[in-house]
Amino acid sequence: MQSFEKLPFTYDRNKPFIEQLGDWVGDVFYDILPEAGFEIRDEQIFMAYQLERSFLEKKPIFAEAGVGTGKTIAYLLYAICYARYVGKPAIIACADEALIEQLVKPEGDIAKLSEVLQLNIDVRLAKAQDQYLCVQKLERLKDDDEKVMVYESVSDTLPSFVYNNVAMQEFHFYGDRKTYSELSNEEWSNVNWDAFQDCSVCEKRHRCGMTLTREHYRKATDLIVCSQDFYMEHIWTYESRKRKGQLPFLPEASSVIFDEGHLLEIAAQKALAYHIRHDLLEEILVRLLENDVREEVAFLVEDIISRSLYLFQLIDSSTTNIKGSSRYELTITSEMIDEIKQFKTLLGELEDALVFESELYTIEEYQLKIVEEHLDMLQYALRLFEAKTNVITWVTKDDGVTTLVIMPNLVENVLQEKVFSKNTPFIFSSATLSTNGDFSYLAASLGIRDYLSFTVASPFNYKEHMKVEVPEFNKAVDKQAAVLNVIKQTEGRSLLLFNDYEELQTFKEVALSELEFKDYKFLFEGDQELSSIVKAFQNEEKTCLCAVHLWEGLDIPGPSLSSVIIWSLPFPPKDPVFNGKRKNTVDPYEEVDLPYMLLRLRQGIGRLIRTSSDKGIVAIVDERLSGDAKLYEQVSAVLPKEVSIVRT
Ligand code: SF4
Repeated sequence: MQSFEKLPFTYDRNKPFIEQLGDWVGDVFYDILPEAGFEIRDEQIFMAYQLERSFLEKKPIFAEAGVGTGKTIAYLLYAICYARYVGKPAIIACADEALIEQLVKPEGDIAKLSEVLQLNIDVRLAKAQDQYLCVQKLERLKDDDEKVMVYESVSDTLPSFVYNNVAMQEFHFYGDRKTYSELSNEEWSNVNWDAFQDCSVCEKRHRCGMTLTREHYRKATDLIVCSQDFYMEHIWTYESRKRKGQLPFLPEASSVIFDEGHLLEIAAQKALAYHIRHDLLEEILVRLLENDVREEVAFLVEDIISRSLYLFQLIDSSTTNIKGSSRYELTITSEMIDEIKQFKTLLGELEDALVFESELYTIEEYQLKIVEEHLDMLQYALRLFEAKTNVITWVTKDDGVTTLVIMPNLVENVLQEKVFSKNTPFIFSSATLSTNGDFSYLAASLGIRDYLSFTVASPFNYKEHMKVEVPEFNKAVDKQAAVLNVIKQTEGRSLLLFNDYEELQTFKEVALSELEFKDYKFLFEGDQELSSIVKAFQNEEKTCLCAVHLWEGLDIPGPSLSSVIIWSLPFPPKDPVFNGKRKNTVDPYEEVDLPYMLLRLRQGIGRLIRTSSDKGIVAIVDERLSGDAKLYEQVSAVLPKEVSIVRT
């Protein structure tokens, strides 16, 4: 519903809205914010007026703005007012689930604007499903001696309405990962929602924290903040949820902002992937047998289950571990392809048999629908697998369960049709969207044909405020000593960025056992929920934070973050997803590996200077820079122009 009265300026219906919004944004930047003590930069004002074009023309815009431009405030002003004018919330899709909380923290831009402009901004978080507790999974831990401690600590926190009859008005949302910050990621994985929970038939769904949270955020009037992964999941499941009579994950948006928008293609690919598991198929089919089905159907089901088991044994024995990735490479054999053909034939026979069964009314309608949808998905995914063109396939083995993942390589056509053909302002905000001002590579990979774009440089004085150190590795200096040297210089206050958990673990063992590191306190990603670790890092000034997922989006101004230590250059893993990209290029290193690494490196370096008064050190302690002059030059070229490297 439109709410003109909630606009922060008096709206004259006889004049174009965007023109009046632009005038107000001018007042905010030239008068209101400076008066409130905000540091306003020309780059920020330039960016704001560029964004206005996107709202006027309702087109995607690539807003490439260097660190410190103040891009969040610029897009928030437009997004909030436009949401109130149109009567639908704006969606802000962040790069990572961990960054959602960053936007709404008490010292963040939304809170600041809310206070200075007295806007009372209605912002709600839409986290991914795995960020919520699953009561059903929790209950299953009750009799598990090893996990009963986790069960007890979590079940004590459940609201009484989960198990008791109380008025619905008393229902409220709960079960957010953040509430259980003391649980490690591994412990959390025992109790959170996962892709194999069948929520649509769950008797607890009306009392489930995830369902209640959805009901809450869908009513947001100004902003909904989610991750890009979740936004894409919303897009891909939109039709099927509607078919099943379910509401889409997200409500219709007045505008969509992709923060760190250069990552959207990966999010789209991830969301479009099909996940196939033997145990899930078995569970669904065994449930089918509980109905009064014909004997021949029962035999067919048993046949399918044993075929599926054999197929997954074949898959399991054809996988290779990949360093730095949780994905396993799958070697596709001719036996596997033959097996899939026969498996598909059986699935087809079952689909036909179920049509007949539905006429006999032997299976409950809803259950039949679930089986049919699952068989449909299997057939489609396996067809893609057989065709081999434009798909990427890999295997995961979480908790000993093998999952076959089949993902389309190119998503541009689907994105064009389902997202960017809409007449909506889509804003891509990032410091790294183009190659020297040319946005066509990103636009093409996202299926965007008609777009606006601009680039603004960072306003910070890097020459004075940033020192970059690259150690010359020799017998006297090892990686450990190089890291310690930086930590000593800034007396802790370091963000250490790792490429994967293996690297982080290697350092963790050193940091926790070696005497020289004893004087410093370290926080490690994975030990607790990430946003609470980030908070502790910010509040306990001298701590060091070791992370894998904070190359992007982390915004900690002030002395708490005085050095960024890059443990190794962030080259992508040799996993199937990146191999799929490499296959489509002439020179994979130059076209995929190097640009990815440089872009991520720039993002990592960008964590250091967040305000004009921030100062500190960036140290890149990768041994390869000591022996590879070309790589050294390429890395030097992406540093802020005025900064020179100190070899230590
Ligand atoms: S609705 Fe889904 S997440 Fe919630 S308790 Fe049921 S199965 Fe678990």
